[in-house]
Amino acid sequence: MKTQILLLAAFITLPLLANDNATVSSPDGKLEVKLNVSNGQPFYCVTYDGLNAINNSLLGLTTNEQDFTQDLSIKNVETSKIDEHYKMDRSKKSDIHYVANRLLATLATSKGQELQVEFRVSNNDIAFRYLLPKQGETGSVRVTSEATSFSFPDGTTTFLTPQSDAMIGWKRTKPSYEELYCWDAPMSQVSQFGHGYTFPCLFHESGIFENRADELWVMVSETGVDSHYCASHLSDAQSNPLDKGSSQPSPNTYKIAYPMPEENNGIGTADAAIALPGVTPWRTITLGRTLKPIAETTAPWDNVKPIYQTDHIYKYGRGTWSWILWQDDSINFDDLCKYVDLAQAMGYEYVLVDNWWDTNIGKETDGTAKNPDKSIEKLIKYANSKNVDVFIWYSSSGYWNDIVQGPISRMDNSIVRKREMKWLHSVGVKGIKVDFFGGDKQETMRLYEEILSDADDNGLMVIFHGCTLPRGWERMFPNYVGSEAVLASENLIFGQMHCDLEAAHATLHPVLRNAVGCMEFGGSFQNKYMNRDNKPRENRHVNTRLTTSTFSLATAILYQNPIQNFALAPNNLEDAPKISMDFMREVPTTWDEVRFIDGYPGKFLVMARRHGDTWYLAAINADTQMLKLNLDLRWLNASNLTLYSGGDNPSVKPLKLKKGIAQLTLPSNDGLVIMAK
Ligand code: CA
Repeated sequence: MKTQILLLAAFITLPLLANDNATVSSPDGKLEVKLNVSNGQPFYCVTYDGLNAINNSLLGLTTNEQDFTQDLSIKNVETSKIDEHYKMDRSKKSDIHYVANRLLATLATSKGQELQVEFRVSNNDIAFRYLLPKQGETGSVRVTSEATSFSFPDGTTTFLTPQSDAMIGWKRTKPSYEELYCWDAPMSQVSQFGHGYTFPCLFHESGIFENRADELWVMVSETGVDSHYCASHLSDAQSNPLDKGSSQPSPNTYKIAYPMPEENNGIGTADAAIALPGVTPWRTITLGRTLKPIAETTAPWDNVKPIYQTDHIYKYGRGTWSWILWQDDSINFDDLCKYVDLAQAMGYEYVLVDNWWDTNIGKETDGTAKNPDKSIEKLIKYANSKNVDVFIWYSSSGYWNDIVQGPISRMDNSIVRKREMKWLHSVGVKGIKVDFFGGDKQETMRLYEEILSDADDNGLMVIFHGCTLPRGWERMFPNYVGSEAVLASENLIFGQMHCDLEAAHATLHPVLRNAVGCMEFGGSFQNKYMNRDNKPRENRHVNTRLTTSTFSLATAILYQNPIQNFALAPNNLEDAPKISMDFMREVPTTWDEVRFIDGYPGKFLVMARRHGDTWYLAAINADTQMLKLNLDLRWLNASNLTLYSGGDNPSVKPLKLKKGIAQLTLPSNDGLVIMAK
């Protein structure tokens, strides 16, 4: 890519230090990582603005051939600078300037076996990984475990979601990153399933420093995972093995954990298999005094590269999606035509055809169409005649769950998959949604990569559902357009509890799950009642949204995914406020810039995104109290400010500032949007 200019300064080799440590700081000098080796054990610590953000935490790994957790010393240290510009079209920022200081340390055992650890430190982000050189005849190893840890000061609170048991839940499809978050929990709280937590993991260090007013937010995640490694997560908190002097060791240390052997129906190793020389994925730490660097981080993309080039131009946009409200019953020709018509009425680019289409509608080309006049090919032609393109659903399985809704067994085998994708291309389908993956093993990472690569050969974009967290994939795969990996909008249909928690979760996702990767949430309902006619029932409970019409507009801004399959229904053309529907007609799905303004996960959130020369500022309130906002909007430098507010009776009006300040109030479960040009 010609926009990428990598400038690596000449390596400066430092002399080996007698006390076996090395330090690397951010370009602004505030963030500092110190690497140490003591009694043969490598470890690191992190300070920000002089505050201990991460205490001494072990480094190292074990392979089936070597133990790189002890008997080590620093053999050599190299430092260099990174200064790179790159562009992204599918995430939170379009134009990124990555500046970092790099430290590469070579560690060696007394037998001369070598392991390298590399740190890249920018102003608010640390990325680090291990490099395993080829040693002797051995050309490949299995990495069986890591010592890599993250140890937090006592009193740190956590914002975490647990890793699930394997092979549980709907048709034994878990883990799929669809668990509840606990926010502001103590580190001593044990995870729900006892398997630790999935990335990203957020930590709050507040009221624990010498100056009680000092606070830090720290996020730990992972990026650059493809077929060459498994995806990892964090263990439950343990006491820090480096804290030997402490009489009452407390659980404050989270370790990198690999997949569980039971995942993917037991198929494939839970270790990582790598050819030598080889590398681990990047583990990232993003931190600062507020949530701003976390909400705005580009750490997932700064140190990965596109792994193939594409011949295609992919068009992002909005879609309608019948399944989200009308569920399985809607997968028939006539109902789907209604959602094509809705897409056309909204000016949307796409319609998503969900599960069961293979049996409920069927293909003309292979003779499975129930009615040749109402085949899937005819539906695609109908959509295209209305200027709407089609995304279509597949199960990833296979043989790693009990899924029966089809199509199944067309994505797990390369011969069948290539044939199917060729057909999809021939009938004009523009993208696929692949669901129900088997977990985080390297075997499953290979499947993600193969699906993406084969899809790109056929000009198809790919959305994943029932899946893992994307780890840098927006930059690595040119046709990757989103992952679920969250308790998404479907849960509002499945349970009232999720409706009750909708606002609280919406304050978490933009600074947590969605901060590190596209989130295909399928949100922005305008239905109040989670059923087909949007009406309450006399004798039976209907799941009911507590949030307002303008709250849904705000989440269309706060939730980021380049293709947004919104949960609008045909009836919303009549029963939803016209102001809201007009907003939803114009809302963009691609962004040039993001700005965190204020918020506390679980309570409220104010963030802004820029598309072209228009800023969209969105605020939501999940607290029981009225939220009073004093927003200093001078930075917008805008002459034209428009406010969407008023909950379920929305109004749109010019916003007047007092000395650059917008004074606004926001009731519980409500949201607002300010458009600025
Ligand atoms: Ca799901």
